[in-house]
Amino acid sequence: MNFADMLDKNAHCFPDRPAIIEGDITISFSQLHQDVNKAASAMVKLGLQLDDHVALCAPNAYAWVVIYYAAIKAGAVAVTFSYLLKKGELTKILADCRPKILFTSDDKLSDMGDQRDESHLSIVVCNNGDISFPSLLEKGDRQFPTVNRHRDDTAAILYTGGTTGTPKGAMLSHQNLKSSIFNIAHYERCTMDDRALCFLPLNHVFGQVHIMNSTIYSCGATILQPAFDMDQVLNALTKYKITKFYAVPTIYIRLLGLPDLKETFKSIRYCFSAAASMALEVVQAWKEKTGLDIYESYGMTESAAMVTYNHFYRHKVGSVGTVVNIVEVEIRDDGGNALPQGEKGEICVCGPNITKGYLNHPEETRDAFWGDWYRTGDIGIFDEEGYLFIVDRLKDMIITGGENVYSREVEEVLYTHPKVFECAVVGLPDAEYGERVTAYIIPQPGQHIDSVVLKAYMKERLASYKVPKAFIEVDELPKSSAGKLVKREIRNTYTAPKP
Ligand code: ATP
Ligand code: MG
Repeated sequence: MNFADMLDKNAHCFPDRPAIIEGDITISFSQLHQDVNKAASAMVKLGLQLDDHVALCAPNAYAWVVIYYAAIKAGAVAVTFSYLLKKGELTKILADCRPKILFTSDDKLSDMGDQRDESHLSIVVCNNGDISFPSLLEKGDRQFPTVNRHRDDTAAILYTGGTTGTPKGAMLSHQNLKSSIFNIAHYERCTMDDRALCFLPLNHVFGQVHIMNSTIYSCGATILQPAFDMDQVLNALTKYKITKFYAVPTIYIRLLGLPDLKETFKSIRYCFSAAASMALEVVQAWKEKTGLDIYESYGMTESAAMVTYNHFYRHKVGSVGTVVNIVEVEIRDDGGNALPQGEKGEICVCGPNITKGYLNHPEETRDAFWGDWYRTGDIGIFDEEGYLFIVDRLKDMIITGGENVYSREVEEVLYTHPKVFECAVVGLPDAEYGERVTAYIIPQPGQHIDSVVLKAYMKERLASYKVPKAFIEVDELPKSSAGKLVKREIRNTYTAPKP
């Protein structure tokens, strides 16, 4: 099998349907297929062999899509990581994955160019690199047979979000990717009439697998934007009659500040969120302002996206839904024993979409598994109807005076306060309590936080040990390249005032 063989099928069955739309250019499935063939054959002529790594480190663009599929089609491995990473971070990743070919953008060349000696990088594809993307296509042939691979061979390596530590390269096989996109397309009822807006980065599992791969698999159109830009997103919604809107919670929070959301989102049939906890307040405000539900899924790089889905027919707000068909989930204690329904524990996942491990990190791989079961590092609980609720990340749980405080629970309550725009609750070191619950808050525009008032508000709603000892007003909160709050950075960077 080969994960990229879906392109052959689409080009054969629906050659003229739009596959990728970028600005004013629409690329059909037959054009995409032909360009992928050209890029694959050109890379092979340049020396690309089975299992070689082709790294992609550039903003979303048509060329990114072509090189990604071309690498996989040729039996090599597409390795994807964020172009927002800094030079030192990129150096480490390149040394880790040792790509033979690198696709990047000109502005990143100086950060990556001097890697050649240390890795076995031989070709850089970008305008000022060894070969430009158009020249690469010119070198290639219109026909290129898809290389047959074993289902367990690695098709792509995605570096994780880097939310809790250094990004690790999760190896996803042809089967991991195939099973996951089939599942996503099924649950989201994707059709060839769908138009999915993709401003989330393609290097990350959300943009790459959940949005692009499942849309391409379903023969829908993917509208690519290089990054999230409010004006461009609003413009795209009407210009391209988008039907599916995908974003992370922080983006929904920003959009809520806009007027006329109902009109702006009138072509949308479906809104979706994943990657981080979505506050109930945000879902409710969104429904009020747009008339649309936000459907949610829980997943991760290591599971090639979807593990649970909060589906159409019985949507339960606040939950990430029920376990999807191909996956099994158990809640386990810290000794690895399965816990009964209704108890909190670590979410463990098993199924054909689960990674075989991290590139070059056997120890981290060993620590991440109990047998076949991948340990997500997230705490969850099932209700009696089988709906999963994410409680917190294990690393974000705060232990204060011997009590467990789930940062998400405290954030949920903070979001109900009208002056809170965005917030993050973390535990800071404390000589007496071990950790001190601390809230960092961006207030609504034109507002300020009054700690005394907020403390009283929280005390009415939460046990006193969960109430933050300090409420700190900030203008910004650190976000990862995938748009998630990076709490380890908050813990490291900010110094809390004395309580
Ligand atoms: P790293 O593993 O490098 O620290 P990361 O875990 O953020 O980064 P991803 O694979 O992008 O990297 O994210 C997966 C994680 O995102 C999950 O383990 C979970 O903590 C969180 N997550 C995903 N979907 C949801 C959701 N719907 N609700 C709450 N959290 C979610
Ligand atoms: Mg993770």
